[in-house]
Amino acid sequence: MGELICNSTWETKMVESLKTSKFYLKGDYKVHIKESSDIAEHCIVYSMSDGKDTDYRKKCGHRHGIVCESCHVLSSNPTDIQTKATTANFATTDDRDEVAYMINYSKLAIESWQCHIIRSIANRRQIGMVNVDNAGCYHSAHTILSCPAIAKSVGMKIVRIDFSDPQGGKGAADRLAATCK
Ligand SMILES: [Zn+2]
Ligand SMILES: [Zn+2]
Repeated sequence: MGELICNSTWETKMVESLKTSKFYLKGDYKVHIKESSDIAEHCIVYSMSDGKDTDYRKKCGHRHGIVCESCHVLSSNPTDIQTKATTANFATTDDRDEVAYMINYSKLAIESWQCHIIRSIANRRQIGMVNVDNAGCYHSAHTILSCPAIAKSVGMKIVRIDFSDPQGGKGAADRLAATCK
């Protein structure tokens, strides 16, 4: 990842921001989740509907025009890292590919964690959704399940934001490890 990221104020800020996001996911996020919300990330019905498949989409009777700052930061962090990675110098194309993979992996892991929280709240409140097992959340959660093994095999030596433990048990999170070359 080179000097662009290592030892920079950008990196320090990003690590802080990732930590804040992690605390948010572990704590306040679940308080924000509602069966119906004008904030897309807080709306159970919206979050559990598969955007691509209209058969599984349960309509919200409202718009999702309001932005939650915490949720916004949660999703914009990986995008910022992605942008940074495009301007970084890599020793090899393999390194570049690996970073791109890890960033995508982390994005999925964060989404998967959000989905996990939303699903468990929906289950607890017994919010009935038609074909819930086929809804969007299920798909991304299922995809991510097979990822840690792959991630392990590629080494994760350059960038790792470990949001991959939705159960909160393993404690390996808030790590952004950048290998300085
Ligand atoms: Zn909604
Ligand atoms: Zn939010």
